[in-house]
Amino acid sequence: MKGYAGRFLEVDLTSNNIGEAKLPEETLRRYVGGRGLASWILWDRIGEKWDSVDPLGPENILLLLTGPLTGYFPGGRICVSGKSPQSNGIVGSTVAGEFGVELKCAGYDGIIITGEAEKPTHLFIFDSHVELKDASHIWGLEGKETFKRLVKEGREELKRINPRFGEWKDPSILYIGPGGENKVRMAAVMAKWTHAAGYGGYGAVMGSKKLKAITVKGSGPLPEVADMRGVSSLIEEVCRELYRNELFRRWGTGHGGYYYGNQTSSEPVRNWQEEWHDVKDYGVDRFDERVWVKRFWGDYGCPTTCLKVAMPTSGPLKGAVSDNPDYELQAYVGTNLGVFTPEGNTYLSARVDDLGICGINGGNVLGFAAELYQRGLLTKEELDGIDLKWGNVEAFAELLEKIAYRRGMGDVLAEGTYRAALRLSKEKGDEVLKYAVQSKGIAIGAHGNRSTLDYPSYIAYACSVQGGDHTSIAHLPLDHGDSELTIALYDSAVICWFNAWTLPEDLIWDFMNKVTGWDISREEWYGEMAPRILNIQRAVLLIGGPDLRWKPKENDENPARFYEPLPSGPKKGRAVDRKEFEEMRMEYYSAMGWDENGIPRGETLRKLGLEGVDKILRDKLAR
Ligand code: SF4
Repeated sequence: MKGYAGRFLEVDLTSNNIGEAKLPEETLRRYVGGRGLASWILWDRIGEKWDSVDPLGPENILLLLTGPLTGYFPGGRICVSGKSPQSNGIVGSTVAGEFGVELKCAGYDGIIITGEAEKPTHLFIFDSHVELKDASHIWGLEGKETFKRLVKEGREELKRINPRFGEWKDPSILYIGPGGENKVRMAAVMAKWTHAAGYGGYGAVMGSKKLKAITVKGSGPLPEVADMRGVSSLIEEVCRELYRNELFRRWGTGHGGYYYGNQTSSEPVRNWQEEWHDVKDYGVDRFDERVWVKRFWGDYGCPTTCLKVAMPTSGPLKGAVSDNPDYELQAYVGTNLGVFTPEGNTYLSARVDDLGICGINGGNVLGFAAELYQRGLLTKEELDGIDLKWGNVEAFAELLEKIAYRRGMGDVLAEGTYRAALRLSKEKGDEVLKYAVQSKGIAIGAHGNRSTLDYPSYIAYACSVQGGDHTSIAHLPLDHGDSELTIALYDSAVICWFNAWTLPEDLIWDFMNKVTGWDISREEWYGEMAPRILNIQRAVLLIGGPDLRWKPKENDENPARFYEPLPSGPKKGRAVDRKEFEEMRMEYYSAMGWDENGIPRGETLRKLGLEGVDKILRDKLAR
């Protein structure tokens, strides 16, 4: 088996049992790694009882998976998955950093974590030395402090285990902040100071298992590849191509800030009440001038270096450190909250990172609460005195902290926008639900579809198996570069999306096949492999449970807000056209082999070798 270490680490936190699992090469070839393999493992182990498994209970499985391209393809990522406490389905959520490479060099393709520890725990991996350590002393710490302590402890531990090695490069660490510890459904799995696997809410899954952190260091080589010479020359070619991507290298995704808001009318402004703004001071060049203290920073082996270090250097917000902030955070804890200063935005980005909360889902729930406040549906008293006016940075930071620690109204909002809206609608009337801008419990990414000038179409979020996730959208034709069938490839291989979408597609296939020796064709991916992964994700989304179950078709919807005409900007008056949306949705169902309600047809599932999924899905839907 080429490109794989050939074994997975299995950790049961209830029994403290540490073991290993092997998967047949045939399974790896079918599901590749990352998101694809997560879908299979989760289905295989809990598919039959999916609707009864609480994502925040010990029966859920937390998966940290590499892919065959991890360590070879420029830029490092790891895919985090499990039953999502946001959608009750499966989300493949990837985070940048060295974790995947270190894990592979330690001899593992991934980690499968079950059970629930009795006390705060830290999983420490150094090659085959695997240990569960007490993490009581770091439980309760915020992100940067957790990370600093773990780096120091990790290096000391490595020296203790192998004193003759000399100075170790820092181990790689995934961890949670207070949000994860308190099972906030928008909690992220964090890496370094600012990286996050945010979609899915897997920080809360780690918290429910009392797993504060995982440290890994591998001292071995990466697994052998099928064609070493071919892979070496592809690495050179890919790096050459990526280095040409000056826009990303110089500005990161933050370059989209003013552009999306101004040119394409697709940026959330004040909880999506608007999607257009003309605040030139909020362009990426002002971030460069005012908050960037380091202009080029990249993940392991990545020539794109899209990251930047941002920090206000004077004024009351001085010292708050974040990355870039990238476009999603510029929007979600910026324009979406009526915050239009690089300093305020950097500060709020640093707070979501430190509290271990997804910037997108966290910014979405804050915007939702602020709109309720604007409309008098949430009062200052209910917010314990917080004046949640648009643009009030301190107020949003205070509410965010309440969410992370589940205090007062923060406890309701910690359930995420949709669940909070359901609860508040009981007290205040159904009107509240229409301000929740989400799909299947997951916040819509910061790219609106009303103007149709941005990349997501009317069905993008409504039909995606990952809900509102803007990195994985439903798109026609199915083999388009923006389609989630393509993104499932990146999430399964596991590579950085930014490093893939600008490359000629053939390069990625070539890379995959020279590493694995498998000869996977484009046709096989789009005709069979990606549909297999997506149909498992679709089936579990429809099975859902235990607290929420999505209705076929009825919940394949845009947020109500997207049917309201845009109130400003050159695209003023545009809204999602319901008739066009419904036609497109039907076309998508048909292209995916789903029936008129969006339920995968028996023949589709059987053709993909998913007979078991077919049977269980039909049994569950009949109940
Ligand atoms: S493109 Fe950016 S996010 Fe992706 S691996 Fe490179 S530095 Fe990291």
